[in-house]
Amino acid sequence: MITREEISQLIKGYDLKKLAIATIGSHSALNIFKGAKEEGFRTVCICKEKDLIVYKKFPLVDEFIIVNDFTELLNDTVQEKLRKLNTVIIPHGSFTAYLSTEKLTDSFYVPMFGNRQLLHWEASREKQEEWLKRAGLRLPKTFASPEEIDTLTIAKLQGAKGGRGYFLANSPESFSKKVKEMIRRGLISKEDAAHIHLQEYVIGVNVYPHYFSSIIKDDVEFLGVDKRYESTVDAIGRVPAAEQLEINLNPTYTIVGNIPLTLRESLLPELLTMGDNVQKTAREIAPPGIIGPFCLETVITDKLEIYTFEISARIVAGTNVGVGTSPYAYLKYGEKMYTGRRIALEIREALKQKRLSDVVA
Ligand code: AMP
Ligand code: AMP
Repeated sequence: MITREEISQLIKGYDLKKLAIATIGSHSALNIFKGAKEEGFRTVCICKEKDLIVYKKFPLVDEFIIVNDFTELLNDTVQEKLRKLNTVIIPHGSFTAYLSTEKLTDSFYVPMFGNRQLLHWEASREKQEEWLKRAGLRLPKTFASPEEIDTLTIAKLQGAKGGRGYFLANSPESFSKKVKEMIRRGLISKEDAAHIHLQEYVIGVNVYPHYFSSIIKDDVEFLGVDKRYESTVDAIGRVPAAEQLEINLNPTYTIVGNIPLTLRESLLPELLTMGDNVQKTAREIAPPGIIGPFCLETVITDKLEIYTFEISARIVAGTNVGVGTSPYAYLKYGEKMYTGRRIALEIREALKQKRLSDVVA
């Protein structure tokens, strides 16, 4: 694990007047680049040739590092270039999707906005659960083996991207039938089947609150909320039940986009407290806790019970709905505040106070 001391050393070699903000060209990159520009930073995009069109149409990037594969980010030459450009990397969902956590924590010698140690807590379902439970959050029940299934259950694959290959089962029998069918249809492998995580399926609507843990201000801010638009689960209601049964329709959860939400105000006290408590626990398990944005993935039932099934301790793409502004960011900051800009502002403030090494790791 690369230490904070080593990263502080790297920063000592930086020309801080020319500090640049870099990220992989995907996920929430436009959000991050726009924010960086609005706070007066130069921007660097690690990009695939085929995606260049995005950053030509939305010209927010000063410098491109073209790669064939995002794993090249870990190459010495790319790392060297990033350091030469005085960059701070902003990690987002594509980092964990395409790069291994070990490589990121152990062999990526570029200052990253955030807390590297928490990547390990985030990467393991067991550790995440421990963290969220310690923070006092309500979690769906989990089942250690299929025999224990006694209610509607969601079967999740290890490290699945966008919920691909997830399925629902209501009993040990239906689980075993579904697994066989999923393998037969080539939707999951035998290897996947051996590592399925079983979680009570909470009936409710999904709500993804976006928080920002500011180390500089020692506060957890609430910047927005989204819900997801997923294929096929959001399409199933358009097919009548009789036909669903006929074609044996199973929901899948491939993310296509996000929809902004504002919440019933009486839900705010609990959601705000949850954010504070998650950071309080994070500070205990890996000081100074979460640095910057995080998101809780929740389902809210008709009894207004909030169940948290996951945490992302980094910017989530759902915050893209807030680019420009969101009602909650507006309430706190007025216009033109959103997660990408909030990150850049935190770096700007840290620079002013000569505390950059407090917000990178
Ligand atoms: P991508 O670079 O688009 O393949 O995304 C990297 C990871 O982030 C994948 O695991 C996606 O499922 C997830 N992701 C991408 N876009 C979104 C989004 N708009 N909302 C939620 N998750 C997303
Ligand atoms: P994930 O890959 O964990 O983000 O989950 C993909 C989809 O499954 C999202 O639409 C979630 O809302 C849904 N989901 C995940 N876990 C649960 C759960 N325990 N109960 C209900 N829905 C869930």
